[in-house]
Amino acid sequence: MAFWQARDFLFCGVCGTLLDFNSHRYASCPLCGFKRKAKDIEGKETRYAVTAEE
Ligand SMILES: [Zn+2]
Repeated sequence: MAFWQARDFLFCGVCGTLLDFNSHRYASCPLCGFKRKAKDIEGKETRYAVTAEE
């Protein structure tokens, strides 16, 4: 399982700060305001989990 890839979705794509999950719809960067859709993160994590089981 590629931990570095899954972990990458939890960090800001602009400054690398750990994203803050203060909303169930978005993860936002407390430093620069970058936002990532929580739905995108969940989808990718699910795919990695399935791959790991197989
Ligand atoms: Zn940031």
